[in-house]
Amino acid sequence: MVPDYLTGLIDDLKAELPTNRPVVVKVVPMTRAYGTTSLSARGRITICIAAGLPQDQAEDTLVHEWGHAMHLDEWEDHGDAWGMYQAQAYRILEQRRD
Ligand SMILES: [Zn+2]
Repeated sequence: MVPDYLTGLIDDLKAELPTNRPVVVKVVPMTRAYGTTSLSARGRITICIAAGLPQDQAEDTLVHEWGHAMHLDEWEDHGDAWGMYQAQAYRILEQRRD
């Protein structure tokens, strides 16, 4: 179940910083990470956010993972491309928090 505050952020990210593939965000029980981003064989991006996080941490995690979703073709974990996209996604979150 994705909470409303994440749904709103997802909508803003899709509108202002669109990924080049369809993206689905799920909130699921996780023990070893706050979030993951993966690409399915059918070309769909799935972002998983750990269930039970406080709102600000869930939002920060989604921004982090959105940075990965923006450059899955050139995966280098937390390199320059990820950092640039993560910063752009973070700005969108900051606009919502203002
Ligand atoms: Zn990461």
